[in-house]
Amino acid sequence: MESLATLTGTLFFGAAALFAVAECLSPARAPTSPIGRRWLTNLALFFFGFLIHRMLLPFTALIAAQAAGELGSGLFQKLSLQAAIAVPLGVLFLDFWKYIEHRLFHGVPLLWRLHRVHHSDVDVDFTTTERHHPLEVCVSMLFLPSAVFILGVPDLAVGVYVLLGSIVALFSHSNVELGPAFNRRLSWLIVTPRVHCIHHSADPPETNSNYGILLTLWDRVFKTFRQEVAKSRGRQRLGLEYFRDARSARLDRVLLQPFLPAPTEQRPAAGQGALERGGQAENLETWG
Ligand SMILES: [Zn+2]
Repeated sequence: MESLATLTGTLFFGAAALFAVAECLSPARAPTSPIGRRWLTNLALFFFGFLIHRMLLPFTALIAAQAAGELGSGLFQKLSLQAAIAVPLGVLFLDFWKYIEHRLFHGVPLLWRLHRVHHSDVDVDFTTTERHHPLEVCVSMLFLPSAVFILGVPDLAVGVYVLLGSIVALFSHSNVELGPAFNRRLSWLIVTPRVHCIHHSADPPETNSNYGILLTLWDRVFKTFRQEVAKSRGRQRLGLEYFRDARSARLDRVLLQPFLPAPTEQRPAAGQGALERGGQAENLETWG
């Protein structure tokens, strides 16, 4: 297990470096906010999440899979499937589970308060991948291991999914221009940067689409897949309108976001960074 953790970590940081270079060479969007401040916040949140994973509950989904294997519990263990069938099936199931989990984080108001930290990034790049509030990391760590244990998903399937899911998540958040034709072909299988960028749109109908982590299959099956943004608008705005001001980007304010008033209670006052619908975008926030 330790060697798998080392391999996953090495490939994750290798992929992050690769996407960082790709973002410099072929960016899809110009930044709208100071990159240093965003990176400081996102990397700090990554560090907090890393500490929670490593120090409190190391590799819990894998431990749950091993416990289920030792006890022979769960559907996968009872069926005694060969690895060639059990591993792909397990990866499919875990990706479906993460799709459901992501929809819950959007649909349940209390969970959305945690997940909106991920969506409040006003630009999206590879550092956004690990921008999650520590409380969201804790809740998320309860979802996957419980499903793995109940169904007895094999530990190899968990390892493969963690590896593939982490790298595709980095890829789908990266600010890389692939070209529309290549993007469209690739998005028949996996979540691409263009597809996931729609999920980070400031426009709620677009935010509530493209929930997939690894495969686009589940969004297609459950009719939440979007390939294009609304054509009526010009440039796509990312982030959340109610956390768009410069102060909201500070790490201390980001950590407070789950406890701040809900959007319906905290509408931007006229002339304070509100997005006027109907074609005239007004952006009055100040980035100091
Ligand atoms: Zn989301």
